Amino acid sequence: MRAAAITAPGVVEVVDRPEPVAHDDLVVVKIVVAPMCTEHKDRRAGNLSDSLGHEAAGVVVDAGRSHRVSVGDRVVVMPQFGCGRCRYCTAGEHIYCPFPRDVLAETGQSYGTATFAQYVLKPDWLLLPVPDDIDLLHASAACCLLGPSFTAATRMHLGATDTVLVAGLGPVGLGAVIHGRSRGARVLALETHPHRVELATALGARVLDPFDPELGELVRAETGGWGVDASIETSGVAANPAVLAGLSARRARMAIIAWGSDISLPPLVPLGLDIHGCWHWNHQVHGSAMISTIRSSTDALDTAITDRFDLERVSEAMDLQDTGRCGKVVLLPFGEEAL
Ligand SMILES: [Zn+2]
Ligand SMILES: [Zn+2]
Repeated sequence: MRAAAITAPGVVEVVDRPEPVAHDDLVVVKIVVAPMCTEHKDRRAGNLSDSLGHEAAGVVVDAGRSHRVSVGDRVVVMPQFGCGRCRYCTAGEHIYCPFPRDVLAETGQSYGTATFAQYVLKPDWLLLPVPDDIDLLHASAACCLLGPSFTAATRMHLGATDTVLVAGLGPVGLGAVIHGRSRGARVLALETHPHRVELATALGARVLDPFDPELGELVRAETGGWGVDASIETSGVAANPAVLAGLSARRARMAIIAWGSDISLPPLVPLGLDIHGCWHWNHQVHGSAMISTIRSSTDALDTAITDRFDLERVSEAMDLQDTGRCGKVVLLPFGEEAL
């Protein structure tokens, strides 16, 4: 099969790799849509990688001995390879599993766990079924476009009486805007990239310049003088949690999604902030709520998913990601016709 690899510093290309083979509960999914995440940063940093991508939606083509899925099922592929047995996995929080399976070593295979490829091997319980009325392009938003911000919105009980402030409007931030709007909240956002400002505005956010000296007054004017009820940090800028705290009402909620080093926050007690660290989402508990969100947000997803490339054009796709002139970019390992 064809799969992408960073074969030299700064060089991503599509190469031939062995197709994975189903084994017990490990099933093979034909990847129709492979959303791109931060892999382009690895290329930019000069790292090499034979295994790119953790997001996918596709069709089960070999169900092994699975009792959960059958050949032909359309599914979203969840990231990572939780053990399926520990306290996190059994609660649906497999992203935190400390005992991940090495499914290649288990089955004696050399390749098949990456999603910038035509097929991927996955434990059947890490596949989310996609109903017939949702296409796989929209379904693929259940990966990182909507996943981490779903957890942020859910844990903060974001609702119609809230004004939420989103820092950073990369794909994860755009997803946060979609969740805010789909729950009826008013959405403010901080971003400077003109293209992303345009996308978020089209999604219903009011975007403010984080470097505007009047920012504090602008946010207070939008919130009756109190500050925002909730905020979501997706920018990865270490100083931003403190900025968001300063723009929040007392007893507000904050969700931090961006990976990063340490973050800075002002003293928390006088602010009464509730802070949530949000990585991915729980498909076992919230699968139907995620599907409902996707079903009611297809227009917004068409705005946020800005570019589609055949897998063979992965280098061009990463060039585009490097410019920031895009929302979510997806690869199509079997082309447009498979959609
Ligand atoms: Zn991702
Ligand atoms: Zn586990």
